[in-house]
Amino acid sequence: MTKPLRIAIVGAGMGGLAAAAALRRVGIEITVYEQAAQFARIGAGIQIGCNAMKVLRELGLEQRLRAQSFYPRSWNNRDWRTGEVKFDMIFGESAERKFGAPYLLAHRGDLHAALASAVPSECVRLGHKLVGLDETGDGVRLSFANGVTSDADALIGADGVHSLVRDLLFGASPVNFTGRIAYRTTYPAALLDGQGIDDCTKWWGEDRHIVIYYVKPDRSEVYFVTSQPEPDFTIESWSAKGDVRELRAAFEGFHSQVTKVLAACPDVHKWAIVDRHALKRWADRNVTLLGDACHPMTPYMAQGAAMAIEDAAVLSRCLDGVERDGVADAFRRFEATRRERTARVQQTSRTNTWLKEKTDTDWVYAYDAWTVPLAG
Ligand SMILES: Cc1cc2nc3c(=O)[nH]c(=O)nc-3n(C[C@H](O)[C@H](O)[C@H](O)COP(=O)(O)OP(=O)(O)OC[C@H]3O[C@@H](n4cnc5c(N)ncnc54)[C@H](O)[C@@H]3O)c2cc1C
Repeated sequence: MTKPLRIAIVGAGMGGLAAAAALRRVGIEITVYEQAAQFARIGAGIQIGCNAMKVLRELGLEQRLRAQSFYPRSWNNRDWRTGEVKFDMIFGESAERKFGAPYLLAHRGDLHAALASAVPSECVRLGHKLVGLDETGDGVRLSFANGVTSDADALIGADGVHSLVRDLLFGASPVNFTGRIAYRTTYPAALLDGQGIDDCTKWWGEDRHIVIYYVKPDRSEVYFVTSQPEPDFTIESWSAKGDVRELRAAFEGFHSQVTKVLAACPDVHKWAIVDRHALKRWADRNVTLLGDACHPMTPYMAQGAAMAIEDAAVLSRCLDGVERDGVADAFRRFEATRRERTARVQQTSRTNTWLKEKTDTDWVYAYDAWTVPLAG
């Protein structure tokens, strides 16, 4: 019997954990290395598109996510001031039937915890920050900041938008700061004092917008995320605090639903919005990138994590039954299968026009990463 492939995954974010769960399904031994000492529950929501839900279903997570997340009737798009509906993208049961899976609105921490539950904890090494990488004749050697070194047959760099694996493979290059920032937070809906809000609405302003939705099935928790110009902002951090007074001022004059949500908001975090143009290559011999490491995008289609999760399913199909000498070719096929779609989503997201008016969404939500033809 041949030995199972041993693959190291750097990064236990959405993409790394999804890849770990998907690769285990096809008998690959995986170890996930994560720089953080523990998983933090960041106050953020995440839209789980029908396309991502198809992958998560096969990973055994559908029931758990349905039980923990909000099931919206639609993603509505309204004018910032008048509230006029520009385009109401209906989800709920009709979209579920059409696209083959539900569209869910989750707490980001719940999605992350669900993915973590699909990977045995003994396969995840926290407190391991990758600092070096050598491609040896028959695999890869990883070095970590804590002094540990480790060998594997292959490596998946799922280390996010500032990927070190990418820098080591293809040379360092800065991300593209869009000149815009996002405020976001979740908080108990009880703070709204009984004032109801729509299920999920993007309020389109002239040079800024805000998306507001519930993230719990009983509407007990609210989330919002904004986008507005701030060309001088430089820090990108999951934990940069924002100033709620500045935020409220920035959305003065918006519809009363927006101003009420902002008035009730206790505190907020702030991010720079960054992306990259499509990379020329994702893989080099027995190392590949996955998720934001190779195709980071603006959040305007709510598809960044969905793309990483789709990557995981396709990569597992490319690696199914492959032995060590076939890994480089499997990584090449993975890249060839995924490149065009992810580049199109990056490009479409950058324009920030998704659902602003009647939009063809089939190409995004109907995609099934388990059945899409693999590149030859
Ligand atoms: C404001 C905002 C809203 C968004 N909303 C949505 C949405 O609604 N729906 C959606 O699908 N997507 C959304 N996204 C995008 C989504 O968050 C990302 O696309 C997704 O998190 C990418 O997953 P990833 O696993 O590739 O990277 P990450 O989730 O960033 O994970 C990377 C992991 O690698 C670890 N790491 C990094 N460097 C090292 C190292 N050297 N050694 C070890 N570990 C390392 C990090 O600690 C991290 O855990 C949003 C993004 C933003 C900014």
